[in-house]
Amino acid sequence: MKKSSIIGVLILCFAFWGKAQVRNEIRVPDPEGYRTLKCDFHIHTVFSDGLVWPTVRVDEAYREGLDAIALTEHLEYRPHRQDIIASHNRSYEIAEKTARNNQVILIRGSEITRPMAPGHFNAIFLSDCDALELPMIGTSDIHQPIQTDIDFARGQHRTMTFVFVRERSAEGIREALLHRRTAVYMDEKVIAEEQWLKELFEKSIDIEDIKRNEKSIVITLKNNSDLTFHLKKTRHNPGLVYFREYTIQPQCRHRIEIRLENNIQGGDINFEITNLYAAPNKGLTYSYKV
Ligand SMILES: [Zn+2]
Repeated sequence: MKKSSIIGVLILCFAFWGKAQVRNEIRVPDPEGYRTLKCDFHIHTVFSDGLVWPTVRVDEAYREGLDAIALTEHLEYRPHRQDIIASHNRSYEIAEKTARNNQVILIRGSEITRPMAPGHFNAIFLSDCDALELPMIGTSDIHQPIQTDIDFARGQHRTMTFVFVRERSAEGIREALLHRRTAVYMDEKVIAEEQWLKELFEKSIDIEDIKRNEKSIVITLKNNSDLTFHLKKTRHNPGLVYFREYTIQPQCRHRIEIRLENNIQGGDINFEITNLYAAPNKGLTYSYKV
């Protein structure tokens, strides 16, 4: 009797453990016709020089709201090889079932490393070397357990890639990478081609209300995404008086006031979004007519 109640408690504990994983969705808009997947394609486990077991990587990714990961063990550098003797496919094979159960897409990968700086970079499946244009990819290169490097309580996230897919699958990700439909998400920065930045901004912001009188225009907007936007005023009609710098926080409602001087009725609110990069050190320029 006693024994079976102990077993009962144990089973309950495991049942609870199984459900204890909470997924933190990362809210980022989908560009028209695509879905935005959050991906990290550069991760290590004990099967190369990382410090955690492959299934733990899947659990971490699930909890952090990622859609896809690649375990990219070094082919040459395997400091745990005395204790772990396995094929280069083994970490993928171990993680595969957990990934399937959690609907995390697992992509087979490897890292090729040479001691001399900067090591070797290999691109594969090329059909035309002249047309070699690579997608922008941001990854964590995580070796420690994820919470050692990232303070989630402070709203931090790992560096990842947003991949704009037609379908949520490994093949969908491959197709999107081949067509360079990606953005890099690192701290508060998003790095991508201009069209994606523009769409991410526009689809994050919902203009809820615009109030006008002769002296001012007040815009109420809501940022529905987890992205932060740092705005900085650029050249504009001096009759429009508005913020010099303004931060639109994630998941927040904001009221922006524009004063009208010299009897003007409206015009273009011009600004740069300084944390969205389409080119090095150059934020996305944007204009909003009022
Ligand atoms: Zn690495």
